[in-house]
Amino acid sequence: AKSKGRNRYCVFTPVMHQQALKILQLENDLKRAIERQEFIVYYQPIVCLCTGKISGFEALVRWQHPTMGMVSPGDFIPVAEEAGLISLIDTWVLQTACSQVHNWQKQKLISEDITVSVNLSVRLFSNPSLLTIINETLQSTQISPQNLKLEITESAIMENSELAAIILQELRECGIDLSIDDFGTGYSSLGYLHRFPVNILKIDRSFVNSIEQDGKKTDLISTVISLAHKIEMKVIAEGIETPEQLEILRNLGCDFGQGYLFSKPLASNFILDLLASAPQW
Ligand code: C2E
Ligand code: CA
Ligand code: CA
Ligand code: CA
Repeated sequence: AKSKGRNRYCVFTPVMHQQALKILQLENDLKRAIERQEFIVYYQPIVCLCTGKISGFEALVRWQHPTMGMVSPGDFIPVAEEAGLISLIDTWVLQTACSQVHNWQKQKLISEDITVSVNLSVRLFSNPSLLTIINETLQSTQISPQNLKLEITESAIMENSELAAIILQELRECGIDLSIDDFGTGYSSLGYLHRFPVNILKIDRSFVNSIEQDGKKTDLISTVISLAHKIEMKVIAEGIETPEQLEILRNLGCDFGQGYLFSKPLASNFILDLLASAPQW
């Protein structure tokens, strides 16, 4: 077994053997999942807290495994990253989400300004063909760059910050909005992130969770929102689950919200049902 630091070693237990086998199996199955059309994209509404209306959707991938059933991205994305398959999956999600939005637009089921947010893994973010992939997708799906938002994590930026600044700038110049995902879970401050041409901050749901019972959390989010607004960034609160949380965030001037209170991520046909009911919060 591989040693873990000085004077420590791991024993390769039967449980670990089982886990390793399972990961190998997943990795093998993942290689065929795209061509076998086992992935689907779910969409979760993002609500404008001013109007209470849906302003866009986040695209979240799901894997319908032939024997294991629905595998959550938390379980297979790390395996896909390890196996070098994540860029392919992300590119597929990007393509699928953009054509879905184009489809809805064409059928006049959504207004022209509804956006779709797509997650970019570190791998795809640092892929030299990223810009080409994005441009080709915009062209082939005929959606406007204003309809696309990309979500990246702090760590993707930190990994190679000089290169990140250049890529982010190029994406912004295409007219694409850029969000920092899971803000607050990494080590970077707003002061640091301000150097990068990102324009949306997504506050991680761990900060929103139980905000109604925790005045310190409220103060913290309040500070983040006013700082973000000073540097002309919009703020999205993730993981809003209760009307009380919504109320607090709305009063703090948070721009957008996302969470189970509004809707869980849904398959595209269920999104149509949701839109048909013209929801407003
Ligand atoms: P994320 O980007 O932070 O996405 C938000 C996650 O929070 C989603 O989990 C969503 O279902 C969940 N969520 C939304 N509202 C609530 C709420 O009110 N309460 C709770 N408890 N959870 C909520 P999901 O879909 O399981 O995705 C997990 C992570 O997997 C995502 O976190 C993202 O990092 C990654 N992921 C998902 N799809 C993709 C993809 O296409 N590409 C890449 N690279 N990563 C993806
Ligand atoms: Ca995200
Ligand atoms: Ca997030
Ligand atoms: Ca997350």
